[in-house]
Amino acid sequence: MKNYDKLIFELSRPGRKGYQLRRNEFGFDALDNIPAELRRKDSPELPEVSEGDVVRHYTNLSNKNFGVDTGFYPLGSCTMKYNPKINEELASMPEFAGLHPLQPVETAQGALEMYYNLQQALANIAGLAEFTLNPYAGAHGELTGLMVMRQYHISRGDTKRTKVIIPDTAHGTNPASAMVAGLEVVEVKSKPNGSIDVEDLKPLLDDTVAGIMMTNPNTTGMFEAEILEIAKLVHEAGGLLYYDGANLNPLLGKVRPGDMGFDIMHINLHKTFSTPHGGGGPGSGPVGVAAHLTDLLPNPRVRKMEDGTFTIDTDDRSLGNVSTFLGNFGVMMKAYAYILSLGCDNLKNVGPMATLNANYIKESLKDLYKLPIEGACKHEFVFDGLADKSTGVTTLNVAKRLLDFGFHAPTIYFPLLFHEAMMIEPTETESLETIDEFIDVMRKVAVEAAESPEILKAAPVTTEISHPDETGAAKNPILSYRSLKQQQS
Ligand SMILES: *Cc1c(COP(=O)(O)O)cnc(C)c1O
Repeated sequence: MKNYDKLIFELSRPGRKGYQLRRNEFGFDALDNIPAELRRKDSPELPEVSEGDVVRHYTNLSNKNFGVDTGFYPLGSCTMKYNPKINEELASMPEFAGLHPLQPVETAQGALEMYYNLQQALANIAGLAEFTLNPYAGAHGELTGLMVMRQYHISRGDTKRTKVIIPDTAHGTNPASAMVAGLEVVEVKSKPNGSIDVEDLKPLLDDTVAGIMMTNPNTTGMFEAEILEIAKLVHEAGGLLYYDGANLNPLLGKVRPGDMGFDIMHINLHKTFSTPHGGGGPGSGPVGVAAHLTDLLPNPRVRKMEDGTFTIDTDDRSLGNVSTFLGNFGVMMKAYAYILSLGCDNLKNVGPMATLNANYIKESLKDLYKLPIEGACKHEFVFDGLADKSTGVTTLNVAKRLLDFGFHAPTIYFPLLFHEAMMIEPTETESLETIDEFIDVMRKVAVEAAESPEILKAAPVTTEISHPDETGAAKNPILSYRSLKQQQS
């Protein structure tokens, strides 16, 4: 099964079958019910395999996966915490999973109550007035939030405000979302310690600025100590503050973006609130706003009536719809279960534990890895590659070597501030033993880099594929059985 060059993953053999159509209660084949003129003339081009082949194929594929359920996953910025299984159980209850978005609201009161309660919980955690749960992901939340920002200025006749200020350390989705929202991106520089340079910000603040988009702690894991000053300056200039909530984890229950002066934010339920992510979804990026912006939130909205029942309605002042129906309901269920099962007190422990874990790793490795920003970090931090650069071993080599030891690599080459960036986020759900093992392996790898760099340059050697042809995969992708067949013919 290992030889990808010869494509021996081709399991299909003509005539082999893996199904049995059940005879129905009247004793004839299900196929007999389909009129002859509606049946296809040629058989579809599907692999012909036995049930056993199919089960083995998918089981083997799943074993090649790496996830939070298989090992330590310190991917910075992504908050790969453990996802409690009870969340899954609740989200898959037929009473919730079987709902239809168009069924009468009277028959979906429990689901709407959950949606409403989650909105309220997030508003309390964020220190903002109201949330919509409609956006499907963090980036989608960013777009929605920036549309609120833009609409706010337009609705006041202030149409000159078309610029959004974004720090040079920002996640790539930030400037991308701003462009999609029709705003122009202006970059503000970071100081060597990773925080926004207030002196660089001041001259950018004129009457064409719609707002600033930032995160706190920032992308290097450091708390923006001057946030109150930044909020004051931006507000005085007539702009709004947008908070990228992907870094909310260390602040949970401790510090609220609303209290720091932010007007709009999104939350990644699939990061901070422990619902599985990776591989593209499903996600959920609720957007919260301060009281003066609630009218603009997208439709539809869930409201609580005076008699305690829940309804779905729309508001003419809204910026419109950003999703079909109310968003990714299953993800919301999991986040709600997570919040309720932790409760207020335990939610407050998430940040300190995540912060302790990150600082412990940082301090244990900073003699062997280059630490560009000294001092206490929050839930994550950035190394700038190995301390000893003389061996030519790169961050990519270290990342690949970690795979041989059964760890997922950290985020690499982001933020762009440092050439050999390696961004490590352990989260609060890892034990001391796991973290110590990771530290051990990181130290071993640094020693290897000095003594036998060729080992690192050849890594990984224990994984299914060692050095994939990334250019070939991008230029000539084989993503389906049909494209494989076309390539072969
Ligand atoms: C993950 C992330 C995003 C984007 O969220 P998605 O759900 O992946 O679209 C935005 N900003 C930061 C800092 C992130 O880590």
